[in-house]
Amino acid sequence: MSDYQEDRNKALELDEELRDLPREVRNVLHPVRMTSKEHFHFRCHPGIDCFNACCRNIEIILTPYDLIRIRRRLNLDVESFLYQYATPFTLTKGQLPVPLIRMDPETGQCPFNTPEGCRIYTDRPVACRYYPIGMALMHKQQATNEEEFYFLIKEDFCHGHRESKDWSIQEWRADQGSDGYDEQNRGWMEVILKRRSAGDTVATSTQLSEFFYMASTNPDAFRRFVFDSSFLKRFQVDPDTERKIREDDQALTEFAFAWLKSILFGDQEVKVKPDAMNELKKRKAAKPVAGEASEGE
Ligand code: SF4
Ligand code: SF4
Repeated sequence: MSDYQEDRNKALELDEELRDLPREVRNVLHPVRMTSKEHFHFRCHPGIDCFNACCRNIEIILTPYDLIRIRRRLNLDVESFLYQYATPFTLTKGQLPVPLIRMDPETGQCPFNTPEGCRIYTDRPVACRYYPIGMALMHKQQATNEEEFYFLIKEDFCHGHRESKDWSIQEWRADQGSDGYDEQNRGWMEVILKRRSAGDTVATSTQLSEFFYMASTNPDAFRRFVFDSSFLKRFQVDPDTERKIREDDQALTEFAFAWLKSILFGDQEVKVKPDAMNELKKRKAAKPVAGEASEGE
């Protein structure tokens, strides 16, 4: 394959991966895959003439770890935070619901933006930490791991690209603290990727959407689901995990996605108890096959 053809194929693959992004964003992507060792020039600082220009009219997905950090910062319970600051959005491919920051409907401004900059800066979402770098994770069918690559976002209003400060992507990620976020959000990203790679032919049930949104946004509700239902009678949860998920929202969120991966993709991270499995098999065997006449008819 020629270099041109290879670059072209990569650009097409990238385009497919970024289908969920709004067109305005896709149009400014520098359509080249970058590795973490590649370099770019950029500097953002309060003295720059475009200061705050990037914090309006954008779609910022809030990951589960973003929500935990920002809620803690604002000292808000889940319902109050979602009501005040978020709006649900369904990803085009995979049909899973995610929360977006709700921009001011009149000004288009992010609600956390102030003339002095971001008022939650040290807890800002991972999408804001990456900017102007985008990260794409691609799950290839039959592959065990996700492939990770980056691309540059160049928007006319952002003058940070005119600055001479040189970064490798690795250095930028470390400087912005995004590495830790990706690790904490790993289970959530894996569920999204696997659903996307299943394609549009697999319908997302309302129940799955609800479980996914609850696991992504509402640790209190997921905790009630685990401890106030027959969940612990049906799934194997060791005492140490049980203790952690009772108290720690991040541990609970990680557990929630491990469970979702197990029921959706058979990952076996959270196993069904043998008794519950036998019960399930018995019920399936007792169920009449659709269209089959029952005795006495
Ligand atoms: S969260 Fe902060 S950095 Fe991100 S868009 Fe809003 S104001 Fe800007
Ligand atoms: S340089 Fe770019 S990222 Fe920084 S404030 Fe300006 S528009 Fe926003």
